[in-house]
Parts: sequence; C-alpha cells; structure tokens
Amino acid sequence: MLGPRVRTLDTSVARPPAKVADRFYSSPEWIALRDRVRREERGRCSTPGCRNHGFYVDHRTEIRDGGARLDRSNCRLLCASCHGRHTAAARAERARRPT
Ligand SMILES: [Zn+2]
Repeated sequence: MLGPRVRTLDTSVARPPAKVADRFYSSPEWIALRDRVRREERGRCSTPGCRNHGFYVDHRTEIRDGGARLDRSNCRLLCASCHGRHTAAARAERARRPT
C-alpha cells in the first residue's frame, strides 16, 4: 500500500516555538506595552459591539505574519471569545496562503 505523498503535521502534538514566544511575552518592553493597552482601552474588549471584559492584548497582524511586536497601533485588547475568533481566522488565512 502506498503512503501519503504529502506529510501532514499532527496538530495534537505540534507546538509553537515556546521558548522564543515566552522570552518576548515576559520582556519588560512587552509588559509595559500590554499594561498600557489594557489601561487605554479601559479593560474592555475593543471589538465593536462586544461588552466583555478584555483579557488578551492581541496583535492585529500577528507576529508570525510580520506584524510589529511593539507597535501600539498593532495592539488591541480583546475578550477571550473575540481573541479566539481572531486567532482562528488568522490561522485559516495562513493555511490558505501558498507557501
Ligand atoms: Zn469581545
């Protein structure tokens, strides 16, 4: 029997490069920007019409898609639900893109 011609990634065990991400998200520069975004957006999700408590400081254009890490204009505060939706949409868009 022939095996698959294209290897697939087992997403149940695949992990992002955690060490690199951890270093950035614990840097003083990120923590200062994160706190500034939370303060300026008054702790509320920035999605129009959403009234939830904001929890995630999100990169509008994700870092892995070339978004600026420490640019205030690339950051917004999102609730868990809106953050999950944004992250899933960015992942789907990435998967559609030719490599
Ligand atoms: Zn929201």
